[in-house]
Amino acid sequence: MEIRYKSTRGNSDEVLASQAILQGLSADGGLFVPMQIPRLDMALEKLGELSYQELAYAVMSKFLTDFTEEELKDCIRKAYDDKFDTAVIAPLVQAGGAYYLELYHGTTIAFKDMALSILPHLMTTAARKNQVDKEIVILTATSGDTGKAAMAGFADVPGTRIIVFYPKYGVSPIQEKQMVTQKGENTYVVGITGNFDDAQTAVKEMFHDPKLARELEEAGFQFSSANSINIGRLVPQIVYYFYAYSQLLKDKTIAAGDPINVVVPTGNFGNILAAFYAREMGLPVHKFLCASNENKVLYDFFRTGSYDKNRSFVVTNSPSMDILVSSNLERLLYRLCGEDAIRCRELMEALSAQGSYTLDTAMQEGLRDFYGNYCTQGETMESISALYYGADYLLDPHTAVAAGVYQKYLRETDDQTVTVIASTASPYKFPQSVLDALDKERYQGLSEEEMAEALHKASSRPIPPAIQELRTAKVRHQRVVEAADMPKAVKEILGL
Ligand SMILES: *Cc1c(COP(=O)(O)O)cnc(C)c1O
Repeated sequence: MEIRYKSTRGNSDEVLASQAILQGLSADGGLFVPMQIPRLDMALEKLGELSYQELAYAVMSKFLTDFTEEELKDCIRKAYDDKFDTAVIAPLVQAGGAYYLELYHGTTIAFKDMALSILPHLMTTAARKNQVDKEIVILTATSGDTGKAAMAGFADVPGTRIIVFYPKYGVSPIQEKQMVTQKGENTYVVGITGNFDDAQTAVKEMFHDPKLARELEEAGFQFSSANSINIGRLVPQIVYYFYAYSQLLKDKTIAAGDPINVVVPTGNFGNILAAFYAREMGLPVHKFLCASNENKVLYDFFRTGSYDKNRSFVVTNSPSMDILVSSNLERLLYRLCGEDAIRCRELMEALSAQGSYTLDTAMQEGLRDFYGNYCTQGETMESISALYYGADYLLDPHTAVAAGVYQKYLRETDDQTVTVIASTASPYKFPQSVLDALDKERYQGLSEEEMAEALHKASSRPIPPAIQELRTAKVRHQRVVEAADMPKAVKEILGL
């Protein structure tokens, strides 16, 4: 069955998967969505027999139907190799009454590697298939982790350049250092004085600015995106939910067909949407637990049916989730309103005009499989220490938000369903917060190296190369601009 893609806002042509990946965002400002969600035509019992790579092929080939078997297998082989520090790619670890799906074993030690190690291969394959003769310029807004993971994937890939915008005062010191030391002749990193939402909004505007598109075209460039607005980011993320299920089947924690819950620390709503797509493909999921930090727009949304971004933006200890406009929610709304693109467009226009919208009762009904809650920064710290002292397992602050929300859920419901928590970053990426949570007095005033050593002692896991290499890495990027000047920065970088 061939799957075609169209915009959530209705005014685009139907395109093939490779074209949706190349374009990133639809020209009408909407997001590309598959016109139907394919089923995984394989018995769940069989899942346990597949390697990560084989499962990736089984899932992704259903969506990327214009890629040949050879093309897709080649992309998968190049992506999920020894860049990951474990052959299983995404280990499932039991701790404190839940199963943690560790998605941080790739190059940049955050879950963004799961999709961004394959996106550059999908993109260059798509460019070849569509005879693209322009240089592809990847424009990316990052709340901290996407930027590094995308650059690691696209660095020195022929025919591409990548420009990353990050909130200068809104990422952790290690996240910033990872980005500004990025190597590669085709990588550009720009700090902005605004927050992630400002960066993401400006990037989306550049995508549908017809004048800019013309200038780019004349100069031999075209834009694409490495954010989860690109369907090529979402599809690879569906794989690991099936993989978690397969691991649970293998060790007989569940029987084929048993439902599981998934808990996802959420920002832009990409990761949890991938779980939702996995269920549409046939994965038995009972509840989706959407975990937020103090930027709890989504918690309020699931409770009231109203999305309202009119509130102050909080810089928290889980910076990659500091987001008030969760782009991928648009794809969920599109499903909930029965794929009515006109309705979806109205909601998104209300969001950009008033900063809010409210769902009708029928759409609210569709949210019943989601449970939203949040953790304050203090609760996040408590959640790290509870799991460490209670189960000898170390969490990063983002995963800790999810673990804290799961505890709240258990107190409210007594749902015994086996639960998988998406573990989105290594504790090594946020050493200060993690050590503060363990023992604030003991770990005061340590250098970065000392913090890494302390985490090594506390977790008995090796210090990842991503952290070791920062010790000697040179700063290569120093540009800082206001959000309003992002288009100007792009033009300068491209010499327009
Ligand atoms: C990006 C990120 C998230 C949020 O994921 P979304 O797909 O944007 O919802 C959570 N945790 C970490 C560590 C991240 O990097």
